[in-house]
Amino acid sequence: MTGPIDSHCHLQSLEPQERRRALDAARERGVAGFLVPAIQLDDADELLELCHAHDDVWCALGCHPHHASTWRSGDRERLRALLADPRAVAVGECGLDFYYDNSPRDVQTRVMREQWELAIELDLPVVVHNRDSNDEMLEVVRDPELEDLQADFHSFAGGLEMARELLEHGFYLGMSGMVTFRAADNVREVLPVTPSERLLVETDTPYLAPVPYRGKPNRPAYVVEILERLAQELKMTPEEAAAETTDNFFRLFRRAKQPA
Ligand SMILES: [Zn+2]
Repeated sequence: MTGPIDSHCHLQSLEPQERRRALDAARERGVAGFLVPAIQLDDADELLELCHAHDDVWCALGCHPHHASTWRSGDRERLRALLADPRAVAVGECGLDFYYDNSPRDVQTRVMREQWELAIELDLPVVVHNRDSNDEMLEVVRDPELEDLQADFHSFAGGLEMARELLEHGFYLGMSGMVTFRAADNVREVLPVTPSERLLVETDTPYLAPVPYRGKPNRPAYVVEILERLAQELKMTPEEAAAETTDNFFRLFRRAKQPA
């Protein structure tokens, strides 16, 4: 039986001992893999070291919109060199966040574009963060120069219309613990229009813990509760939902090889 994959967990935010504990607790519940996205390029060495120590951990390397203003002119080449490591399976996380606006919006857009262009050039998918920025995001997504982009819109909460357009582009939607929140009809409403072969599951550790852990620190083991709720919404068994989302993961993140 194939277990689910936590396609988005920030293990770099945990102390090494807690990180090991969190990985083991997840594996004990059948979680079959972990994708750890960088927040900034300075995360890269630590993330690659973690991936090389664990067969079932992969990383995405890139610059989060919160840190877009730290992006320097040589960073595209620096990122290109880091992505030569085969355990780096995606570019990210990158994107736009107009809720926090931690970096100026034009800078966020420029830094996201630069990373998308590099991902297309290297034939790698991107892990995208999008918050309160649907219109600007769609403007970039619609650029014909970027039509070869492959993307996971992680922790998707962008609504029905946004989902429809992203799916038309062939993108994947990451379902986080929000899918279990009582008030999150706006997250669940996209499921009937989303083909199950475009869904991923993720915890977004340490944020957004699912019910019944809501308000506590999130951990990759809780991807099981997210999967169970997703399966219920899709009228599948959890085993079917795990098999499908895990297939999707390895189809999108082609560099990741299923551990034997
Ligand atoms: Zn993230």
